[in-house]
Amino acid sequence: MASVESQEQPSAMASTSEPNRNPKYDPKKPHITDMPITKSNWYLHVNWLNVTLIILLPLAGLVMACYTPLQWKTAVWAVVYYFWTGLGITAGYHRLWAHKSYSARLPLSIFLAAVGGGAVEGSIRWWSRDHRAHHRYTDTTKDPYSVRKGLLYSHIGWMVMKQNPKRIGRTDITDLNEDPVVVWQHKNYLKVVIFMGIVFPTLVAGLFWGDWWGGAIYAGILRIFFVQQATFCVNSLAHWLGEQPFDDRNSPRDHVITALVTLGEGYHNFHHEFPSDYRNAIEWHQYDPTKWCIWLWSKLGLAYDLKQFRSNEIEKGRVQQLQKKLDQKRAKLDWGTPLDQLPVVEWDDYVEQVKNGRGLVAVAGVIHDVTDFINEHPGGKALIKSGLGKDATAMFNGGVYLHSNAAHNLLSTMRVGVIRGGCEVEIWKRAQRENKDVQHVKDDAGNPIIRAGNQITKVQQPPSSASAA
Ligand SMILES: [Zn+2]
Ligand SMILES: [Zn+2]
Repeated sequence: MASVESQEQPSAMASTSEPNRNPKYDPKKPHITDMPITKSNWYLHVNWLNVTLIILLPLAGLVMACYTPLQWKTAVWAVVYYFWTGLGITAGYHRLWAHKSYSARLPLSIFLAAVGGGAVEGSIRWWSRDHRAHHRYTDTTKDPYSVRKGLLYSHIGWMVMKQNPKRIGRTDITDLNEDPVVVWQHKNYLKVVIFMGIVFPTLVAGLFWGDWWGGAIYAGILRIFFVQQATFCVNSLAHWLGEQPFDDRNSPRDHVITALVTLGEGYHNFHHEFPSDYRNAIEWHQYDPTKWCIWLWSKLGLAYDLKQFRSNEIEKGRVQQLQKKLDQKRAKLDWGTPLDQLPVVEWDDYVEQVKNGRGLVAVAGVIHDVTDFINEHPGGKALIKSGLGKDATAMFNGGVYLHSNAAHNLLSTMRVGVIRGGCEVEIWKRAQRENKDVQHVKDDAGNPIIRAGNQITKVQQPPSSASAA
């Protein structure tokens, strides 16, 4: 990410249409990442340019800070510039260029390209190319910062260690190649990064209140470190911590802590579902300063064409995910043996078994073994016993006592067989089918969804056969 025109990661700097632009890159030669890391070659695996920019430089800044007192004006400026450069990444690199979630007028575009460069995370072109691959191939081997390779890898490891450019998923960046601001920034990236990363913050602190060293160290080097670490959290923390209200098939997650750290990029589950939405947070109370800025710019005429998914589409995703969770919960419960897996029993056999001492009761054509339940029956032993060996459909459904929904659920767990043909049961079942048009809805795993009041044993009393009860 912090790579400045890295010679070692050629495809990171080349578009899909020109994969071999870098003269040092030979696709026929085995890449260093294809070789195991050993004691003698480990340093060849390390991306030293990135190590310098994201680890060694901040360490040097830390040492220098020990000898440089922090002035309050410089502290305020460092925080302000932190937000500017952070926004360059979140509102600029990410939401404007990588996702085209809104359009910017030229002055805003230039501002974002400049302050985004000051975050020292690579050029817009390189950053957006990897980010599009990240969205397209999330969690796969083609995802340049897949969290499946570990939290540390997704945060910083992918930059510190060399990556095989052939492994990164291909994406289309022709639109970026046609954007003059993007092309200019990419060509002049080294100048942009030195000026906006160090020189500009130093000049402001130096010229306005004479704190040259403080400007360079606090608003320059250490501020770069904090912006980098904060935005790197989008690749690590946002794929590791929090809820998944829209889809849980991949790793992106929503969490307020990630949002606080990343200027509002923390609603990452939403973002991966609706990447072209200019918002990350959709509720007014959620923290998304990047969204607020884009909205403000649109009011000032600097941004336009802010893209937003209809809440109808967003809610559909939310409901489907809820449904999925519900299915998982439902699958863990005992709903009784499915009817089609029960043995078919002749009526006479059923009666015979009861005579032989089994506590069987038939309700709506289904035989239930209530032997162990007779003593616990809330309505008393006598009533339940009076149904044994009979067709108790009417008794159970109001003829004697209108049983509760919970009773129907409990009864279903005692199923042991179904009656073949005939009797009151069949008449009632037919009536039920005709009257209710019962559909057996199934969940994703193929398990029937038994809604309250829709249990097979729940039978509405048909007027014509009421006397049969
Ligand atoms: Zn992501
Ligand atoms: Zn994104």
